[in-house]
Amino acid sequence: MLSMICPECNKLGQSVSDVTVANLVQEDSIRDGAGENSFYLCREPGCSVVYYNGVRVYGIQALKVPVWFKEGSGEDSPICYCARITRKDIKEAVASGRNTSSEIRSYTGKTERENCTRENPAGRCCDQEFDEEIIKYRRMRR
Ligand SMILES: [Zn+2]
Repeated sequence: MLSMICPECNKLGQSVSDVTVANLVQEDSIRDGAGENSFYLCREPGCSVVYYNGVRVYGIQALKVPVWFKEGSGEDSPICYCARITRKDIKEAVASGRNTSSEIRSYTGKTERENCTRENPAGRCCDQEFDEEIIKYRRMRR
């Protein structure tokens, strides 16, 4: 049965594309392939479950990439997954005076975009969290 409720934390999840799940779950964690069903994403920072659909559950360890909003994802976690721009990249760019995501993208030389459905664990564009990270590191700069 398809469940929208996370089996670990019991919070309501967000719908996520099976394309995202199939691309980001490690090969050896996939049983009969992801993609046979709709999946949900658990957004709770303290919960170790990432994707679930009532049949399958994939935790943090099953993914090829750190999940930026989960506890412990740290400075090496990408924020823009398409271009592989990490928190640390943003922190360094802000420390050297860059203030916007486009300035930071050109500063890092990492300019790939528009592959969010396949690369971002949330299956969507990173613009909002990219800006939030800039604000966080600008505050630290002062
Ligand atoms: Zn959860």
